[in-house]
Parts: sequence; C-alpha cells; structure tokens
Amino acid sequence: MQHPELDRVHLRAGEQLFSAGDVGTAAYLIERGGLDIYLPQAGGDVVLATREAGEIVGEMAILDGRPRSAAARAREDTVLVAITEQQIAQRIDKTDAILRMLLGVVIERYRDTVALLGGGAVAAAAPERVPMCPAALDLLGLEREIRFGLQRAEFELFFQPIVRLRSRKLAGFEALIRWNHPTRGLLAPGSFIPVAEASGLIGNLTTWVLDEVGRVLPDLMTVALTHVRAIEAPLFMSVNVSGFDLARPCFSQGLLDLLERTGIHPSNLKLEVTESLFLNEPGRAASVLAAFRDSGMGVAIDDFGTGFSSLSTLSTLPVTTLKVDRAFVNFMLRDAKSRSIVETILGLAEQMALPVVAEGIETAAQAEALLEMGCDYGQGYLFGRPVPLAASIDLIRDWLADAEPRVAALA
Ligand code: C2E
Ligand code: CA
Ligand code: CA
Repeated sequence: MQHPELDRVHLRAGEQLFSAGDVGTAAYLIERGGLDIYLPQAGGDVVLATREAGEIVGEMAILDGRPRSAAARAREDTVLVAITEQQIAQRIDKTDAILRMLLGVVIERYRDTVALLGGGAVAAAAPERVPMCPAALDLLGLEREIRFGLQRAEFELFFQPIVRLRSRKLAGFEALIRWNHPTRGLLAPGSFIPVAEASGLIGNLTTWVLDEVGRVLPDLMTVALTHVRAIEAPLFMSVNVSGFDLARPCFSQGLLDLLERTGIHPSNLKLEVTESLFLNEPGRAASVLAAFRDSGMGVAIDDFGTGFSSLSTLSTLPVTTLKVDRAFVNFMLRDAKSRSIVETILGLAEQMALPVVAEGIETAAQAEALLEMGCDYGQGYLFGRPVPLAASIDLIRDWLADAEPRVAALA
C-alpha cells in the first residue's frame, strides 16, 4: 500500500505501508506505533528491522531514487507523517558532494545486505554510482590543491581601496584573497572559499591571510605616512573572516599575537563578518567580536541587508561599521526598492552612530547619491579594483594626482 499524497498515514496493526520493489516517493516519520521492515519469503517472512516512534521508514528509496528494497507493515496501530521526494531532493542536491557520495555508498551496502538475505532479487536494478563520483573527486582534489597551494605559496592578497566619500581621501583597504593556480590561472575566492569553509581548510587560509596582512600592513602604513594628505587617518585594513574562524579557540590568541609581533595597532585592523554568523551561533560570535572591538579593532558587518538582522538584534551586536551589499548599490538608481533599502540602512546606522561603507560603487552618480544620502565611505571599481601589493603602494603614492579627475567627475 502506498500513500504518497497524504502527509499523514494511519495504519492498523498488520497493514502494509509498502512492498519490496515499489517505487518510493516518500519516507515516513513514525509519530506513534511501530513497523516491521521485512522480506516476504516462501518459508516465512524475514524481519530485517523494527522501527519505533521517532524513527524513519522508507528513506532509502527516496534518497537514492531506486525501488524499495524491503516491505514495511505496522506491528500495531501506527501513525506516520510523510516526507516527500520534493522535500528531500533539493536538500540532497545542496549537500556536499563527498557526503552525498558516502550516503550513496552506505545505502548501497545496506541494499546489498538486504538483497543477500532475499536471494538477490531486489539488487537486480543496477546502482547508479557513477554520477556522484566525479563531483566528489573534484571536491577532494580541490581540497588537496588548496593544501598544496598553501605550502607552495600560491595564494596572494589583493587590496581594494575604501574611500571617505566627502573628502575623497583614502580611508583603508579591504584584503581580498586570490589564488595563482598553477594550471587554472588567477582564481577569485568564490571558486575556493566555499570549499575551504566546508572542509575546515578556511582556518589555514585565514591564518595565512592574517600573517600576510601582518607582513604587508607596516609597509603600506609607512607609505601612507609619507602621503598624509591622501589619507583619512587612521588607515585601516579590512580582513574577511568566517564563522568557522571565530569558533576556533586559538583564533583570538593568534590575532593578538600577530598584533604584538608586528606592532600593528588594533585600530588599523577591521574584521569583516556576515550576518549569518550571528544567526548560527549568536552568543559565541558576539563575545569573541566584542573582545576585539573593545581592544579598538573594527568589526564590520559585510553584505549588510542580505541577511536577516533585525533592528533589535543589530543593536546588540558588537559592530563598528556596516557595509551595504553591492547589489543594493548596483540597483539603487534604477530601482526604488533598492534605494529605499539603502536609505533604511543609512538611517539605522545613523541612529546607532555606525559609519557605513557602500560596496560596489561603479559610477560617479552612485557615489554622489550615496554621499547625499549620508553614506560615509565607498568601495568599488570607481575608486579602484582590487590590486596586488605593489600596485596598492602606487595607488597611495598617486592617490591625490589620480583622485583629482575622480573628484572632479563627482563635483
Ligand atoms: P566581499 O567581502 O563582499 O568582497 C567584495 C567583492 O566585491 C570582491 O570580490 C570585490 O572584487 C568585488 N567588488 C568590489 N568592488 C566592486 C565593483 O565595483 N563591482 C563589482 N561587480 N564587484 C566589486 P572578490 O574579491 O571576488 O571576493 C568575493 C568574496 O570572497 C568576498 O566578498 C568575500 O566574501 C570572499 N573573500 C575574499 N577574500 C577572502 C578572504 O581572505 N577570506 C575569506 N573568508 N573570504 C574572502
Ligand atoms: Ca568583505
Ligand atoms: Ca561585501
């Protein structure tokens, strides 16, 4: 008996939920009662397992899309809630490729065992092993390459200027990681940061990023000191960190050690985190960041407006800057909704006395509108793309000369 459309199924004792060989379109969470999973055999049914309230039955067929390997029937009066294919499919697709493959293997092994007990009838449908494998191999390969890349010094920091909109002076830089991949060329972080986060390698990458910032920031500061007219002091360096970093017990100490070792003042460093960090583990992330903020370090919420921070949550977070996501800046002049989101964020920031950085400014018109709306800082291709260290040093040196046309364009 199949009940794919119903989201709740009532079975009397002895009633069958499904048979071996049925196409599965739902799994069932047992709310009350219990079931036997069994193989019908000539000499009497072989009970493979029993399932009680709180357990799931029929999950394998919807996890690997193959027919049921065994039958299930109620041992007593039983109530089940259906979990449909649709509810599961997208979740499985979004799962890490390695986990997906392992899941496939575990299910298959179990099916093999069931088939052995039942004389091999159900195993006849060949397993679809191949499609999962390349994705998992790619992922494992990429993880290995990231590890090697760190050893072989293939990563590089690029720096993008952040500008005080009113004075057009250089206020700071955001450090953005790049990978000089031996065969694939220069890779943007979008192609490896998610993998690094999923595998835990992000900790190694962040350690490298912070070390690199520690190495180059004193040089940038020295150049800035000889070009004070171009600089909105104190020049800061923004570094992206993920929730995984903050959860590492050694992260805080590592950062404090770095400041001590390099002589970098906390006010010259800013950590950029996303709102999701506070959703997942609000207490812990907030307390780690509060300690940094109290030491004088900047804490910015990145991509602000894309997450779910409510006004009341925001006021409790230890942040010193909001960064408006570049999607809003991009659409601001064409789309009233984006503009009103930017206005709302700016109003909110004003109430909380937080400076705002608008990301992704590409046109003089956007910069001008943002300045009029009260935005303090801007970042985007209009002021400069992310560039390597040497070019960043040149940027400071040439800032005033190069900034004139930019300023004129805005006037
Ligand atoms: P993000 O923190 O939001 O960084 C800003 C991204 O916007 C950068 O992309 C930058 O190149 C791009 N961008 C800046 N101005 C403009 C503009 O005017 N127009 C357009 N279209 N794009 C602009 P990038 O460098 O590819 O970095 C992507 C994301 O990767 C970053 O987004 C950040 O979330 C992450 N990321 C970068 N470096 C690191 C890192 O060292 N550690 C971690 N954990 N994440 C990093
Ligand atoms: Ca950022
Ligand atoms: Ca951002």
